[in-house]
Amino acid sequence: MQQQKVLEQEGKLLPFRKAPDAVQCTLAGVVKLSGAGLFHGVNANVQLLPGSENSGVIFRRTDLSGRPEVLATVENVASAARRTVLAANGAKVETVEHLMAALCGLAIDNCVVEIDGPEVPAMDGSCLPFCEAILETGIDKQSAMRRLCRIREAHAAAGDGGERIEVTPLHQPVSSICYQLDYGTHSPVPVCSFTVSLTPDEFMQEIAGARTFIQEDEIELLRRMGFGRHLTSRDIVVFNNDGTITDNELRWPDEPVRHKILDCIGDLALCGSPFVAQVIAKKTGHRLNHVMASIVSMMSGRGITGNRAA
Ligand SMILES: [Zn+2]
Repeated sequence: MQQQKVLEQEGKLLPFRKAPDAVQCTLAGVVKLSGAGLFHGVNANVQLLPGSENSGVIFRRTDLSGRPEVLATVENVASAARRTVLAANGAKVETVEHLMAALCGLAIDNCVVEIDGPEVPAMDGSCLPFCEAILETGIDKQSAMRRLCRIREAHAAAGDGGERIEVTPLHQPVSSICYQLDYGTHSPVPVCSFTVSLTPDEFMQEIAGARTFIQEDEIELLRRMGFGRHLTSRDIVVFNNDGTITDNELRWPDEPVRHKILDCIGDLALCGSPFVAQVIAKKTGHRLNHVMASIVSMMSGRGITGNRAA
C-alpha cells in the first residue's frame, strides 16, 4: 500500500481506467519478480514479457528442457487442492491464480510469463506486488480489438456443500462480482459478502491487496500433505479458532471475502476471453470456479469467435 502511494507521488502509475479498453493491451516492458511459492516454498524468478496480439497469457518454464509453454486456459487446468495448477507439454506451473487475477484485473490481454521454477512466487499473499510492478512498467495498447464474450443467458454451477456460482447477462459494459463467504457460524472467519465492478481502478483499490488466509484448524492438515512448511504467520493470515489473528493485521475487516473475489477473478480469467456478466459466487473454491470458467469458455469460443467489444 505504501509502495503504491510512493509510485503515485512519483507519477509512475498510469491513471486508472474506469472501464477496460476496447483494444487489447499488453505490458510496455519487462516486469521482474521473484520469491518462494505459497505451497512448495521453492524459489522462482518470474519475468513478465509483452505478448503478441491474440496470444493470451502463456507460461514458459525456462528451467526445463525445450522451455515448454503452457497456455493459461481452463483446458490446461490440472487437478490440485486449494490452488490453480496449469499443465501442458510436459510442464506444470502451480498457484497461478493471483498472477492471473493481476493481469485480468488490470485488463492485460497478452503476456508471456517466463518462470524458472514450478510455482509462481507468493509475494505477500495478494496480487498487489504484481500489479504495482506492472503499473510501474506500464501498459501498452495494441491494435487488435478486444474480443469480449457477452453472456446472453444465465448459467450456474453448484457443489454438494451449498457452494454455487452463476453468471447472468449485464446490459452495462463492465462485469461485476458478488461473493458470499460463509464457512458457518462456528468458523473464526466471519460470514460476509462483497461486490465489486471489474474496472482496473476498482480492482486496484478494493481487491488487489487482499491476502490469502487460512484457519488454524487447516494448518496441520496442509503440513501433513507436505504444503506450506516454510510459512510463518507473517507470510499468511492465520485465523485462530477464537477469531484472533496471530502476528498480523487485516488490511480490511472483510479482507477474506475480498481475497475470495481475487481468486475468483484469477480462475475465471482462464476462460480465455474477457467476458461481460454479473457473477454471483457463494462459498466457491477453485474447483467450482474452474467449472464456470469452462462454461464461459465454451460460450466464448475461447476468444476466437466471441463478440467484439462495442
Ligand atoms: Zn488465493
